[in-house]
Amino acid sequence: MSKAYQHFVNGEVVQGTSGRSSDIYNPSLGEVSGTVSLATTSEVDSAIAAAQAAFPEWSGMNPQRRARVMFKFKSLVEAHADELALILSEEHGKVLADSQGDIQRGLDVIEFACGIPHLMKGEYTQGAGPGIDVYSMRQAIGVVAGITPFNFPAMIPMWMFGVAIATGCTFILKPSEKDPGVPMRLAELMLEAGAPPGVLNVVNGDKEAVDAIIANPSVRAVSFVGSSDIAHYVYRGCAEHGKRVQAMGGAKNHGIILADADMQQAVQDITGAAYGSAGERCMAISAIIAVEPIADKLIEKIKVRALKIKTGDGTTNADMGPLVTKVHRDKVASYINAGEKDGAKVVVDGRNVEVAGDGFWLGPTLFDHVKPDMSIYLEEIFGPVLSVIRVKTYDEALKLVNNHQYGNGTAIFTNDGGAARRFQNEVEVGMVGINVPIPVPMAYFSFGGWKNSLFGDSHAHGTEGVHFFTRGKVV
Ligand code: NAD
Repeated sequence: MSKAYQHFVNGEVVQGTSGRSSDIYNPSLGEVSGTVSLATTSEVDSAIAAAQAAFPEWSGMNPQRRARVMFKFKSLVEAHADELALILSEEHGKVLADSQGDIQRGLDVIEFACGIPHLMKGEYTQGAGPGIDVYSMRQAIGVVAGITPFNFPAMIPMWMFGVAIATGCTFILKPSEKDPGVPMRLAELMLEAGAPPGVLNVVNGDKEAVDAIIANPSVRAVSFVGSSDIAHYVYRGCAEHGKRVQAMGGAKNHGIILADADMQQAVQDITGAAYGSAGERCMAISAIIAVEPIADKLIEKIKVRALKIKTGDGTTNADMGPLVTKVHRDKVASYINAGEKDGAKVVVDGRNVEVAGDGFWLGPTLFDHVKPDMSIYLEEIFGPVLSVIRVKTYDEALKLVNNHQYGNGTAIFTNDGGAARRFQNEVEVGMVGINVPIPVPMAYFSFGGWKNSLFGDSHAHGTEGVHFFTRGKVV
């Protein structure tokens, strides 16, 4: 059945009026499965006006009542998890288990947001002066917006609106136009959970909608996640318009394997971190730095595991689904062509993977003898492509990571506590794993990278997320 997504404003589905729309694909079938309306500036402005009208009542409500809405929302999402995971896999392509994980990681943040009465408490000093007590409070900042990428259509919206709405803000979500199905359902479930109309609105759209959010003076803060060029664009635009902004960008996450690492564990973890969700994860490990003399053995073992990964329809029993669109699939394949042309050795070649049907298939790919000046190393590929660089020392490995333009996540594999400790202190990356391949912080910590992986000062969810959507006041 072909879907035609509209917008969700003030508690109801609102038909788009722009006459512009974008196709949505089922990447496993390689077919258009629906369309999504692309909002005009005035449609975005109407949604912002609805959020503005809802703000006084919602922010004035006592925090435990807002927490109750979050608890109800959590149980509704859990009750609908299978339905949401199927929509997600059909629009994104990732396997059902990964879609369930996408939803669960978002729910982790909703659980954190359920503790909002505690999280917004201020401080108090009795007798700071003669007859004077001093106390601090945090207040919701107002209407805020979230602009999200295609790769986690459940988790990333929940990172943002979960915390923002719990603090008392009202929210405009502009999801990726590639897979808006889950964000639309989440907005309906938030209404059912008891959030009044206008508290969570979804406007679908492209650059025009993003520009309208940036320009509208009623939007006080914008949280963005996507590729670095657009992150930087949104960051600059919001700064010019005097808005608070956090803009998370792309990544190239290194796994550093020292000679004393538990090889079996490292290989298992790296294979999952490189090829899970077809590498379309901002925390995927896409570059391995093998500190000799282990490279030959390591690459052979990764090759064996990579060749066992079954690529296919994410809603059946495949291990890895297709890429999100044909355009993206071809872009990733062009990086493989470039790596081969530059002289890297293709150990496992995903370009000719055989899968029934016309999906946007690309199998796991493994490169050896990658050099630091090759495009497959310098740039984010965002697909199932793993590059191995061989170095002789820990110091060389550290230098490579620290010189890279991105600094989202990294993981070191070693049994040497001293080396691990040195690494955690010396590496210029925002999220670090020690024998943990994908070091995504728990929801009560904050998520965010360094360098070109984040424009702005604050990270998502956790205490920094609460501070991002609130303002401090001292009385
Ligand atoms: P994208 O940058 O293409 O899109 C992100 C959002 O920006 C979407 O809502 C999109 O509609 C909007 N957008 C696209 N082009 C725009 C333009 N010209 N002007 C204004 N807005 C525009 O990213 P994507 O392909 O959806 O997602 C993949 C990227 O997201 C990767 O680079 C990945 O690393 C990154 N990502 C980063 C994190 C993180 O936390 N650092 C997490 C997930 C994904």
